[in-house]
Amino acid sequence: MILFENVRVISFSPASVSEPMDVAVAQRGDADAGGREGRIVEAGSALAAKYPNARRIKGAYLSPGLVCSHTHLYSALARGLMVDISPSKDFAQQLKNLWWRLDRAIDLPILEASALAGCADAAASGVTSLVDHHASPEAIDGSLSVIAKAYEEIGIRGLLCYETTDRNGMEGAKAGVRENVRFAKEVDAARAAARAGGKGARPPLTDASIGGHAGFTVGEETLEALAEAVKTTGRGIHIHAGEDKYDAVDSRYRFGADLASRLDKAGCLGPKSIIGHGVWLSPAEAELINERDSFLAHNARSNMNNAVGYNALLHTFKNVVLGTDGMSADMLEEFKFACFRHRESLGPWWPGDFLACLDRGNRLMERYMGAATGAQAAAGGPAAFGKIVAGAAADLVLWDYEPPTPLVGENLAGHLAFGLGARSVRSVMVDGSFVIEDRKPAFDLVRISESAREQARRLWKRMEAR
Ligand SMILES: [Zn+2]
Repeated sequence: MILFENVRVISFSPASVSEPMDVAVAQRGDADAGGREGRIVEAGSALAAKYPNARRIKGAYLSPGLVCSHTHLYSALARGLMVDISPSKDFAQQLKNLWWRLDRAIDLPILEASALAGCADAAASGVTSLVDHHASPEAIDGSLSVIAKAYEEIGIRGLLCYETTDRNGMEGAKAGVRENVRFAKEVDAARAAARAGGKGARPPLTDASIGGHAGFTVGEETLEALAEAVKTTGRGIHIHAGEDKYDAVDSRYRFGADLASRLDKAGCLGPKSIIGHGVWLSPAEAELINERDSFLAHNARSNMNNAVGYNALLHTFKNVVLGTDGMSADMLEEFKFACFRHRESLGPWWPGDFLACLDRGNRLMERYMGAATGAQAAAGGPAAFGKIVAGAAADLVLWDYEPPTPLVGENLAGHLAFGLGARSVRSVMVDGSFVIEDRKPAFDLVRISESAREQARRLWKRMEAR
């Protein structure tokens, strides 16, 4: 048992900062956990007497862990890329000249190194759940298990998928669908094993979604196969839609339908669906996505960097979540960019609205891994994410923050927009275990980074040949 003592508990939405209190957490393997392993056992005052054997940790502020709701771990080794890339005049050329050369150059050792480096980077920024969208067209089979292993090694949670596409031929598309389904079944089997107990009884930290690249590289046959995978696995689709105007135009030109209508007609829009970007979706598409209760993953920094335009309808989507789209995993930085870019466009939202978006990543995690909604119930999965209450997942961040102005619930979003950053992350806990404690990672960061640099050199060299 671990007892966070005398901490001010931060809730992101509704925003609040408590008076000093205690939070008791049951770790995996705790003899007295009583089925509450990896969860918050109790939050209240003067708990030290009630849990005399707990390890006591003092701190300033304790918050739920941060969720990154859309990223690409395969781009972790693109930082500082030194490859001869032809200049691109638009986003489609940029994909062709840079990203599709990069993803084709990925093999399994490169993938492993980039997943480990990306997960480590995320953990250091206080991210406890990372939603990944993966592509490695020359190494599809088994790729999601390689990524899942990296999540387990670092100790963070997430949703994984393979971004199925027709752009490398129909064999590649079939292999993409197959990998998504294979991994979903692997997760189901691991959960069943955890339910049955015995050795390795901890439920897996990752779950599967069903990945598609984007409307303009997913034809009707592949979309149908993805819809079938969504149905048979009970998961949701995770796909880019309308990131660039080209995607929206292509959908109407080639398929005679808006992107969201296409997805919906195939049966791919539901409460577990994640739509990436949606910059160029129409008001009617926003309405449809809201009706289906799907998530829209907004990636402000990436949209700026790719010059794809601004999502002026952002505030009309019901379930906006924030992602980094493979930029650094720092969600507080992403949150800041989301706020400022929105202000620049004279949008109606304030930092508090974006704080609600940041928090909403937890609802996404709940829909996949929450005990109330799925197979996790019987496996003793957590009841809730993003809340510091009894029964919720013990995914937490302890912050070293000395606010120079009063910090209360009413101005929490302002502190995040204009001050509090990843440099204040002191300790990070996922599923009741420290991933980072007192700024020291529980994983071998030096070895992971060394190997990442070595594989980055290989990746860049392989890109030159593609
Ligand atoms: Zn993306």
